[in-house]
Amino acid sequence: MKKKLNKKNLERYSRQIILKDVGIIGQKAIINSKVLIVGVGGLGCPVADYLCRSGVGTIGIVDFDKINLSNIQRQTLYETKDINKFKVDVLKKKMNLINPLTKVIKYNKKITEKNINKILKKFDIIVDGSDNFKTKFLLNTFSIKYKKVLIVGAISKFDGHVFTFNFNNKKVPCLKCFYQLEPSDEILNCDQEGILGPVAGIVGNIQSNEVLKKILNIGKDLSGSILIINLKNLKFRKVSFNKKKNCICKR
Ligand SMILES: [Zn+2]
Repeated sequence: MKKKLNKKNLERYSRQIILKDVGIIGQKAIINSKVLIVGVGGLGCPVADYLCRSGVGTIGIVDFDKINLSNIQRQTLYETKDINKFKVDVLKKKMNLINPLTKVIKYNKKITEKNINKILKKFDIIVDGSDNFKTKFLLNTFSIKYKKVLIVGAISKFDGHVFTFNFNNKKVPCLKCFYQLEPSDEILNCDQEGILGPVAGIVGNIQSNEVLKKILNIGKDLSGSILIINLKNLKFRKVSFNKKKNCICKR
């Protein structure tokens, strides 16, 4: 069933509706979109926050972690009183307060080869907010299978990477084409490598912006390229890469 825009909603979304690139048609596309966020930590929090405020109709959140004290520095939707609670429980409540019009579906579990089919099918756009390459490659494989849009983020220290893949287009390379060998998860490990809070926020917000652009079908995306960000020296660069021979995305 299609969700509708009423007068009250019009005011809630008025500042984006007045954008030529959005309008009533764009806002209707946003409220009828279904986005899955895998991992609701430093990247997933800003993604959930902005997508919920923008009016995305259905948002799925996947995480099996509980909130701990060291998360609060960068995981912006959690508070000190939330420590030891499950992230998805706290986040769903928070999102309902931010925008009661967004339907939030929580998955208090680790996404695996066994459960991913059932979860992914319900959504159009998949956002990777995970902190490990196993999950990123799992999302890559199944997003290719189901022809989803996949938006990947990775952060470490002062650095960020963002990829947008639209697997409806068979010509675009995938995550495996870029990382020829599976990188070690140590580089994504905030516990050991460290991370400055705003780095997570900036990369997560670029991901949420990519989601809205995909829903609205506007602007240039990152298909076939990676956005590499260094926030210590404020360097942003886009590097293109090609499909790799015999890659899983070739089949
Ligand atoms: Zn590939």
